[in-house]
Amino acid sequence: MKINENYTSIENNYLFAEIAKKVREYKDRGPKRPVISLGIGDVTQPIAPAVIEAMHRAVDEMSHSRTLRGYSPDCGYDFLIQAILKHDFVDRNIHVEADEIIISDGAKSDTGNIGDIIGRDNLVAITDPSYPVYVDTNLMAGRKIELLPCDPSNSFVPSFPKGKADVIYLCYPNNPTGTVLTKEQLGRWVDYAVRNRSLILFDAAYEAFISNDENIPHSIFEIEGAREVAIEFRSFSKTAGFTGLRCGYTVVPKDLTALTSGGKAVSLNALWKRRQSTKFNGASYIVQRGAEAVFSPQGRRQTRETIAYYMRNAETIKKSLEASGLTCYGGKDAPYIWCRTPKGLTSWEFFDLMLNEAQVVGTPGSGFGPSGEGFFRFTAFGRREDTIEAADRIRTFFLS
Ligand code: PLP
Repeated sequence: MKINENYTSIENNYLFAEIAKKVREYKDRGPKRPVISLGIGDVTQPIAPAVIEAMHRAVDEMSHSRTLRGYSPDCGYDFLIQAILKHDFVDRNIHVEADEIIISDGAKSDTGNIGDIIGRDNLVAITDPSYPVYVDTNLMAGRKIELLPCDPSNSFVPSFPKGKADVIYLCYPNNPTGTVLTKEQLGRWVDYAVRNRSLILFDAAYEAFISNDENIPHSIFEIEGAREVAIEFRSFSKTAGFTGLRCGYTVVPKDLTALTSGGKAVSLNALWKRRQSTKFNGASYIVQRGAEAVFSPQGRRQTRETIAYYMRNAETIKKSLEASGLTCYGGKDAPYIWCRTPKGLTSWEFFDLMLNEAQVVGTPGSGFGPSGEGFFRFTAFGRREDTIEAADRIRTFFLS
């Protein structure tokens, strides 16, 4: 038996496993006060009551053979697809059709698994720094990658690749930098993809955090021409606290085709559905009923309140870092604050400094790619009281 040797070329530890290990070792040494984590992007607020009630009802249905639900449809229940279609697209005047929405257990799986329908001999362009799944899954598949640096020198707007990219990963609002692209800036990428027959993989997991609706697109399909070149990933994880429940969806327009080596046009919508129906057995009925309730009037109000709560945290962290003399980006249309490490410290040196001196955990920017070196990510997903305490500790450390 031979292994897939591509796996030996990637970092042994997923970034967050590495951080958890360091924090565990530090806690074992008995720190002087509790460690506060603003590191991993996981939610801390309870799931909206409307969602909980919907899931309770769905659980009860399972206790009667008459209403029991067995395997769910591979691509999702129509009730959820229709709710998504109306609220995320039709109400925003975005052209998407019901059979272009494919429900899954989350955007990590979909952004990782999409590679199954993409040939090995493609040049893949990935913004740098980035959500690690894009780079790692392409390394696992043995594809060539060109990184597109995003830093203050280009205002975090990626330049076009040097090579002709066949596949381009864009994530906006961005994890980890918390920055966004305007419609015009994203439009240039769509034009690039149309000109070069490239595919854009657009990760919109954080669209619900956008505060400036006028200029910042929630969906790449707000951009003319995108239906021919883009796939979009969405997630209920950060929008509605589903990190543990697991639900997301991917939009693959029927206008999107690619040519086989024999020159035959093939629908990516059909390929993705073929992939999912073979390798995925559907998100659970209970969870899909919960996701549907996110779009009910109460669900929408409750999830908006939770997002506002996190964005207040973002403001608190940003203010504290700036008062400490640090330069920060993001935190306005995204739940991440991207901060430059002071005095030329590396990202991991700053991680150690924050852990040892403030007992605050963040994420070293270098873990998101080479352009993340010299930066540090704080998340706004902490509890309010912890965030305020962490912000105080950081300010006190830098100002004393
Ligand atoms: N995409 C981005 C950019 C993320 O930051 C995350 C999670 O942190 C995901 C996708 C994963 O989302 P999900 O929980 O739906 O798998």
